[in-house]
Amino acid sequence: MPAQRKIIHIDMDAFFASVEQRDDPALRGRPVAVGSPRERGVVAAASYEARKFGVRSAMPSVTAQRRCPELIFVPPRFDVYREVSRGIRAIFLDYTPLVEPLSLDEAYLDVTENLKAIASATRIAEDIRARIRETTGLTASAGVSYNKFLAKLASDHRKPDGLFVVTPQMGPTFVADLPVGRFHGVGPATTKKMNALGIETGRDLREKSLDFLQRNFGKSGAFYFGIARGVDERPVRPDRIRKSIGAEVTFARDLFSYEEARAALAPIVARVWSHCRAATSGRTVTLKVKYADFRQITRRSTAAAPFASAAELERAALALMRPLFPSPAGVRLLGVSLSSLGPAERPSDPQLALAV
Ligand SMILES: [Mg+2]
Repeated sequence: MPAQRKIIHIDMDAFFASVEQRDDPALRGRPVAVGSPRERGVVAAASYEARKFGVRSAMPSVTAQRRCPELIFVPPRFDVYREVSRGIRAIFLDYTPLVEPLSLDEAYLDVTENLKAIASATRIAEDIRARIRETTGLTASAGVSYNKFLAKLASDHRKPDGLFVVTPQMGPTFVADLPVGRFHGVGPATTKKMNALGIETGRDLREKSLDFLQRNFGKSGAFYFGIARGVDERPVRPDRIRKSIGAEVTFARDLFSYEEARAALAPIVARVWSHCRAATSGRTVTLKVKYADFRQITRRSTAAAPFASAAELERAALALMRPLFPSPAGVRLLGVSLSSLGPAERPSDPQLALAV
């Protein structure tokens, strides 16, 4: 039997908002939303002070403002977040090459065999949290367990600035008590469907047969069957290659003018950029436009070198969009995706040159 794996999930606390509070003392202790307060804006991240009012990421800015009238909106600075992300990634790589980033502020680490020959994964997680705090001034939460699914649940358990360990003895019980909506890999639509089938908690999920789950959830059925028992065999994949990174928004009312569309495109571009991994960018930008009558078109362009900033990506996307407006047909959806992915080229950044 293979040795028990040791997996750590590290998750920065309220990442974008914490960076803003770190860099501007006037924001500390106050409810902060990273994003645009404009009519169609959305909250990209909320500080813990803002969360007390029910402000959440991905929430429309107007809703957030209504829930928390004191809310301070701060424009995102993705280049700063990426820089911090590169720093924490370098810390992870001191312990293991098996690092799988999920986004700028989250990663799985397999430390079963690690570069420092530390037997305790909990010790490694504490080391990493201390070093993140020292070098970035920010806090991270860590989950330690024997697979990815449980490690991710565990990091959420003592947030913020916490560490939680789920041992093999605890695993199945730990899952049983949680609502299925908390499981990574069970999205809002699946949660709804599970609830409709009488599955509210991990315990309910466990009572369903593999056959039942496969009939109702297809290929994902086996995964759900496993996680209900605290079983998840997925390896930590450091070289997971994404082919594209995209984001899109359907608007509450159709857009007709270029000015409206330009304002709407900015947060979409920001989101795409934020999902680029620390050292990843792409050369091809694709713009997707869906009209009020559901007709859909795409426009694409490829640059000579990977985009080096959100601003560059936005310029390229706008160049594709400009000829499509004014649009009497009305635009209901805009999407941007970045492909031809590869290492980001930043010749002015010697640290990155070393890292790549
Ligand atoms: Mg986070």
